[in-house]
Amino acid sequence: MSNESVRPAATEFSNPNLRVMYSQEVIAARIAELGREIAADYAGKELVLVGVLKGSCVFLADLMRAIDLPLTIDFMSVSSYKDGTVSSGDVEILKDLSNPIRGKHVLVVEDIVDTGLTLTRLLEILGSRGADSIRLATFLDKPEPRIKKDLKIDYIGFTIPNEFVVGYGLDAAGRYRNLPFIGVVIDPSVI
Ligand code: 5GP
Repeated sequence: MSNESVRPAATEFSNPNLRVMYSQEVIAARIAELGREIAADYAGKELVLVGVLKGSCVFLADLMRAIDLPLTIDFMSVSSYKDGTVSSGDVEILKDLSNPIRGKHVLVVEDIVDTGLTLTRLLEILGSRGADSIRLATFLDKPEPRIKKDLKIDYIGFTIPNEFVVGYGLDAAGRYRNLPFIGVVIDPSVI
Protein backbone atom coordinates (compact mmCIF):
# COMPACT_ATOMS: atom_id res chain seq x y z
CA MET A 1 0.00 0.00 0.00
CA SER A 2 1.31 3.45 -0.93
CA ASN A 3 2.08 5.95 1.82
CA GLU A 4 1.39 8.94 -0.38
CA SER A 5 -2.03 9.71 1.10
CA VAL A 6 -0.77 9.56 4.73
CA ARG A 7 -0.85 13.02 6.32
CA PRO A 8 2.27 14.18 8.18
CA ALA A 9 2.15 13.74 11.97
CA ALA A 10 0.74 16.75 13.82
CA THR A 11 3.47 18.60 15.67
CA GLU A 12 2.17 20.12 18.87
CA PHE A 13 5.52 21.40 20.19
CA SER A 14 6.09 23.58 17.10
CA ASN A 15 2.47 24.66 16.80
CA PRO A 16 2.60 28.10 15.07
CA ASN A 17 -0.30 29.31 17.23
CA LEU A 18 2.00 29.28 20.30
CA ARG A 19 4.54 31.91 21.38
CA VAL A 20 7.21 30.57 23.74
CA MET A 21 7.48 32.54 26.99
CA TYR A 22 9.93 30.24 28.85
CA SER A 23 11.88 27.55 27.03
CA GLN A 24 12.58 24.06 28.32
CA GLU A 25 16.22 25.04 29.03
CA VAL A 26 15.31 28.19 30.97
CA ILE A 27 12.75 26.24 32.99
CA ALA A 28 15.27 23.48 33.83
CA ALA A 29 17.82 26.01 35.07
CA ARG A 30 15.27 27.76 37.29
CA ILE A 31 13.98 24.48 38.76
CA ALA A 32 17.53 23.46 39.65
CA GLU A 33 17.91 26.74 41.58
CA LEU A 34 14.59 26.30 43.36
CA GLY A 35 15.47 22.71 44.28
CA ARG A 36 18.76 23.80 45.86
CA GLU A 37 17.02 26.57 47.81
CA ILE A 38 14.30 24.22 49.10
CA ALA A 39 16.84 21.52 50.01
CA ALA A 40 18.80 24.03 52.08
CA ASP A 41 15.67 25.30 53.85
CA TYR A 42 14.28 21.85 54.73
CA ALA A 43 17.47 19.98 55.63
CA GLY A 44 16.78 17.68 58.62
CA LYS A 45 12.99 18.12 58.40
CA GLU A 46 10.28 15.66 57.35
CA LEU A 47 9.20 17.20 54.06
CA VAL A 48 5.99 16.33 52.19
CA LEU A 49 5.38 17.84 48.77
CA VAL A 50 1.65 18.20 48.13
CA GLY A 51 0.84 18.57 44.44
CA VAL A 52 -2.43 20.19 43.45
CA LEU A 53 -3.82 18.18 40.51
CA LYS A 54 -3.73 18.32 37.63
CA GLY A 55 -1.73 21.39 36.65
CA SER A 56 1.19 20.93 39.05
CA CYS A 57 2.10 17.41 37.89
CA VAL A 58 4.93 18.42 35.55
CA PHE A 59 6.39 21.01 37.95
CA LEU A 60 6.20 18.55 40.86
CA ALA A 61 7.91 15.80 38.85
CA ASP A 62 10.83 18.08 37.97
CA LEU A 63 11.02 19.89 41.31
CA MET A 64 11.12 16.73 43.42
CA ARG A 65 14.10 15.46 41.43
CA ALA A 66 15.91 18.75 42.10
CA ILE A 67 15.49 18.48 45.90
CA ASP A 68 18.30 16.33 47.25
CA LEU A 69 16.62 15.36 50.54
CA PRO A 70 14.53 12.46 51.84
CA LEU A 71 10.92 13.43 51.11
CA THR A 72 7.47 12.04 50.34
CA ILE A 73 4.78 13.26 47.95
CA ASP A 74 1.00 13.38 48.10
CA PHE A 75 -1.74 14.86 45.93
CA MET A 76 -4.94 16.81 46.29
CA SER A 77 -7.50 17.64 43.69
CA VAL A 78 -9.91 20.52 44.19
CA SER A 79 -12.51 22.16 42.06
CA SER A 80 -13.02 25.87 42.41
CA TYR A 81 -16.39 27.28 41.48
CA LYS A 82 -16.35 30.23 39.18
CA ASP A 83 -18.72 33.20 39.02
CA GLY A 84 -18.36 33.85 35.32
CA THR A 85 -14.61 33.75 34.72
CA VAL A 86 -13.58 34.74 38.26
CA SER A 87 -13.17 32.01 40.86
CA SER A 88 -15.52 32.52 43.79
CA GLY A 89 -13.23 31.03 46.43
CA ASP A 90 -15.58 28.11 47.12
CA VAL A 91 -13.50 24.96 46.94
CA GLU A 92 -14.66 21.37 46.85
CA ILE A 93 -12.14 18.62 47.64
CA LEU A 94 -12.34 16.04 44.83
CA LYS A 95 -9.37 14.02 46.08
CA ASP A 96 -7.92 14.40 49.55
CA LEU A 97 -4.43 13.55 50.77
CA SER A 98 -3.66 9.84 51.15
CA ASN A 99 -1.70 10.30 54.39
CA PRO A 100 -1.96 12.51 57.49
CA ILE A 101 0.31 15.58 57.62
CA ARG A 102 0.40 15.94 61.43
CA GLY A 103 3.98 16.68 62.50
CA LYS A 104 5.19 17.05 58.90
CA HIS A 105 6.54 20.02 57.00
CA VAL A 106 4.23 20.53 54.05
CA LEU A 107 5.18 22.30 50.86
CA VAL A 108 2.13 22.82 48.65
CA VAL A 109 3.16 22.75 44.98
CA GLU A 110 1.00 24.71 42.53
CA ASP A 111 1.22 25.41 38.82
CA ILE A 112 0.10 29.05 38.90
CA VAL A 113 -1.35 31.51 41.40
CA ASP A 114 -3.76 33.96 39.84
CA THR A 115 -6.48 35.48 42.07
CA GLY A 116 -5.16 33.33 44.95
CA LEU A 117 -8.70 32.38 46.02
CA THR A 118 -8.36 28.64 45.45
CA LEU A 119 -5.06 28.38 47.24
CA THR A 120 -6.11 30.54 50.18
CA ARG A 121 -9.03 28.18 50.81
CA LEU A 122 -6.83 25.12 50.35
CA LEU A 123 -4.30 26.44 52.85
CA GLU A 124 -7.14 27.04 55.35
CA ILE A 125 -8.27 23.43 54.94
CA LEU A 126 -4.74 22.05 55.38
CA GLY A 127 -4.05 24.48 58.22
CA SER A 128 -6.34 22.60 60.60
CA ARG A 129 -4.51 19.28 60.30
CA GLY A 130 -1.58 19.71 62.70
CA ALA A 131 1.31 20.10 60.26
CA ASP A 132 4.49 21.59 61.72
CA SER A 133 4.63 24.06 58.85
CA ILE A 134 2.80 24.74 55.59
CA ARG A 135 4.47 26.71 52.84
CA LEU A 136 3.75 27.33 49.20
CA ALA A 137 5.72 26.85 46.00
CA THR A 138 4.27 27.93 42.66
CA PHE A 139 5.82 27.56 39.26
CA LEU A 140 4.19 30.76 38.01
CA ASP A 141 3.01 33.81 39.89
CA LYS A 142 0.58 36.11 38.11
CA PRO A 143 0.23 38.94 40.66
CA GLU A 144 -1.91 41.36 38.64
CA PRO A 145 -5.31 39.65 39.07
CA ARG A 146 -4.55 38.78 42.73
CA ILE A 147 -7.57 39.25 45.01
CA LYS A 148 -5.99 37.64 48.07
CA LYS A 149 -3.22 40.20 48.41
CA ASP A 150 -2.02 38.73 51.72
CA LEU A 151 -1.32 35.26 50.29
CA LYS A 152 2.33 34.55 51.03
CA ILE A 153 4.16 32.56 48.36
CA ASP A 154 7.45 31.13 49.61
CA TYR A 155 8.97 29.87 46.35
CA ILE A 156 8.22 31.26 42.88
CA GLY A 157 9.55 29.91 39.59
CA PHE A 158 8.68 32.91 37.43
CA THR A 159 6.55 36.02 37.87
CA ILE A 160 4.53 36.62 34.72
CA PRO A 161 2.32 39.36 33.25
CA ASN A 162 -1.46 39.00 33.11
CA GLU A 163 -1.56 36.68 30.11
CA PHE A 164 -3.19 33.25 29.76
CA VAL A 165 -0.37 30.73 29.52
CA VAL A 166 -0.28 27.03 28.63
CA GLY A 167 2.21 24.18 28.74
CA TYR A 168 4.36 22.54 31.40
CA GLY A 169 1.20 21.16 33.03
CA LEU A 170 -1.08 24.10 32.31
CA ASP A 171 -3.98 23.53 29.93
CA ALA A 172 -6.53 25.27 27.77
CA ALA A 173 -9.67 23.11 27.67
CA GLY A 174 -7.53 20.09 28.58
CA ARG A 175 -4.95 20.58 25.82
CA TYR A 176 -1.28 21.67 25.92
CA ARG A 177 -0.32 20.21 29.33
CA ASN A 178 2.41 18.16 27.59
CA LEU A 179 4.28 21.13 26.11
CA PRO A 180 7.82 21.16 27.53
CA PHE A 181 7.77 24.98 27.59
CA ILE A 182 5.46 27.77 28.79
CA GLY A 183 3.67 29.44 25.92
CA VAL A 184 0.93 31.87 25.06
CA VAL A 185 -1.86 30.93 22.65
CA ILE A 186 -1.64 33.61 19.93
CA ASP A 187 -5.17 33.15 18.60
CA PRO A 188 -7.37 31.67 21.38
CA SER A 189 -10.26 31.19 18.95
CA VAL A 190 -8.34 28.25 17.41
CA ILE A 191 -7.59 26.38 20.63
P1 5GP B 1 -6.92 31.25 41.38
O1 5GP B 1 -5.56 31.65 41.89
O2 5GP B 1 -7.52 32.33 40.52
O3 5GP B 1 -7.87 30.79 42.45
O4 5GP B 1 -6.84 29.99 40.42
C1 5GP B 1 -5.65 29.50 39.96
C2 5GP B 1 -6.00 28.42 38.95
O5 5GP B 1 -6.55 29.02 37.76
C3 5GP B 1 -4.75 27.70 38.51
O6 5GP B 1 -4.47 26.55 39.30
C4 5GP B 1 -5.08 27.34 37.06
O7 5GP B 1 -5.79 26.12 37.03
C5 5GP B 1 -5.99 28.46 36.60
N1 5GP B 1 -5.23 29.50 35.87
C6 5GP B 1 -4.99 30.76 36.27
N2 5GP B 1 -4.27 31.44 35.36
C7 5GP B 1 -4.03 30.56 34.34
C8 5GP B 1 -3.30 30.66 33.08
O8 5GP B 1 -2.70 31.67 32.69
N3 5GP B 1 -3.27 29.53 32.33
C9 5GP B 1 -3.89 28.37 32.68
N4 5GP B 1 -3.79 27.35 31.83
N5 5GP B 1 -4.58 28.25 33.85
C10 5GP B 1 -4.64 29.33 34.67
